[in-house]
Amino acid sequence: MYSGFYQVPKAWNETVKSYAPGTPERDEIKAMLTQLRSEVKDVPMVIGGKRVKSEKQKSLHPPHDFNHLLGYYYESDASHVTMAIDAALEVRPYWQALEWQDRAAIFLRAADLVSGPFRAKINAATMLGQSKTVHQAEIDAACEFADFLRYNVQFMSEIYGMQPVSDHGIWNRIEYRPLEGFIYALTPFNFTAIAGNLPSAPAIMGNVVVWKPANTQIYAASVIMEIFEEAGLPDGVINLVFPSGPVGGKVMAAHPDFVGVHFTGSTTVFSKIWKAIGDNVSIHNTYPKIVGETGGKDFVVAHKSADVNTLRTALVRGAFEYQGQKCSAASRAYIPDNLWPELKESLVSDVKSIKMGPVEDFTNFMGAVIDEASFDKLSMFIENAKKDADAEVIVGGNCDKSTGYFIEPTIILTSNPHYITMHEELFGPVLTIYVYEAEKWLETLNLVDQTSPYALTGAVFAHDRFAIEQANEVLVNAAGNYYINDKPTGAVVGQQPFGGARASGTNDKSGSPLNLLRWVSPRTIKENFNPPTDYRYPFMEAE
Ligand code: NAD
Repeated sequence: MYSGFYQVPKAWNETVKSYAPGTPERDEIKAMLTQLRSEVKDVPMVIGGKRVKSEKQKSLHPPHDFNHLLGYYYESDASHVTMAIDAALEVRPYWQALEWQDRAAIFLRAADLVSGPFRAKINAATMLGQSKTVHQAEIDAACEFADFLRYNVQFMSEIYGMQPVSDHGIWNRIEYRPLEGFIYALTPFNFTAIAGNLPSAPAIMGNVVVWKPANTQIYAASVIMEIFEEAGLPDGVINLVFPSGPVGGKVMAAHPDFVGVHFTGSTTVFSKIWKAIGDNVSIHNTYPKIVGETGGKDFVVAHKSADVNTLRTALVRGAFEYQGQKCSAASRAYIPDNLWPELKESLVSDVKSIKMGPVEDFTNFMGAVIDEASFDKLSMFIENAKKDADAEVIVGGNCDKSTGYFIEPTIILTSNPHYITMHEELFGPVLTIYVYEAEKWLETLNLVDQTSPYALTGAVFAHDRFAIEQANEVLVNAAGNYYINDKPTGAVVGQQPFGGARASGTNDKSGSPLNLLRWVSPRTIKENFNPPTDYRYPFMEAE
């Protein structure tokens, strides 16, 4: 029992470490990379706190060095998912009965573990398992993950503080109840922070969770689970399973106590999940909450007044960092013809200077793409662009899967604003550029708005204030995260809450109170201190 209105520590954004030569963090992560590469890690499921293995052992490899064995995980079947649901439902009454301060303390401790003693381990696991450079791992696995945990605790306490007014003689209260069942968290390969946030955000609000990460992110997911356990999260609150997507999805959707899915991944998969939930609506005890952040075809549109150096840097970083595998990555650009000659020369030269290779070599700016399916898809689009009459590969275009899944940073120039790579999400280091007549600014803004079904991120570059205002207006529904004179990637928790609309998801803004509000079912309580004792109203009395 707590007697006091406790205030949680004010959240802050974790400082990004440099890993420059001579820094202690560089020595530490190099040692951790060597250690992890020397081990073969066993990654069982975690159900109700117990390590569970199946007959189906699957190997884990770095995408940039697939002959190296990192470890094994154990594929789950439907019975394991059911076991995880049972474990979650069993602990549910105890977890909900804990005071919110206890939940806050567990996740604040987890944040300190991520940014402290586990920093090197979670970064190194993300580098090896997902082929991130040390900088990309640091901003994701260490910093963004710690930010999610700290800010979500703060948002929880702010939400609990949102209370209705009370008139004389009554007291109105809102109780932010957790949902009455289990949440299924489905996480993508590309961000360790998202993998940690999707199960923990509902758990912070008092819910119990079954978590299924992408197979290609299991290596770092197992470190997240270690951190939650070390922070004191009770067994069964978050259960980690590894079924194939459709097997897990089927068990989830058909369970009467399924109350919500917290998803980040592709639009196609999310649509399937939505349909499966709808097909089972008659058996659910509660209408499930469906929260999904999905794909993008993120744009950069430059006005004739834009600064070429700023624009070039944004394009290179926005399109090619983490091999273009950020949902927010710049993948289509609209450049006015007055800027193109100067931009083209410096852009091609910058892209040619990009060094790609194993992420253990810190001089590399890019690693490999996540797996063979992604490699094959990207190579196919690049080969087609080399042949198509309305497209030209102006830099990059080589693909090599002899030791890892390496795709050169590639720029396609197209004369067709509706060319396939201007509207389809490729999810790799491929940027398509369309050069427009500088005077057709307004027409081009409409083209940007109407070309792709997605609306996740986008950026406008201009010096002219009228042009910036016009873009803001025309592109009002074209992006959930919109940037002016900045690259469309790199949203920071608490500063730029993240999410998009249209085919990019339900826009429930992870890293904000809006997301946490999806994981509660408020109960309004009215208490009357002077309840009436007669049903008759005064107006009914005789004159
Ligand atoms: P994915 O859709 O292939 O997988 C996401 C998760 O869903 C995985 O855990 C996967 O195993 C599971 N899954 C697959 N089929 C399923 C099914 N039928 N039923 C239930 N679950 C199923 O996505 P990915 O390749 O891991 O990630 C890349 C995608 O994620 C890109 O489209 C990217 O734009 C998107 N993404 C979006 C955001 C955002 O905030 N909008 C952030 C990161 C990634």
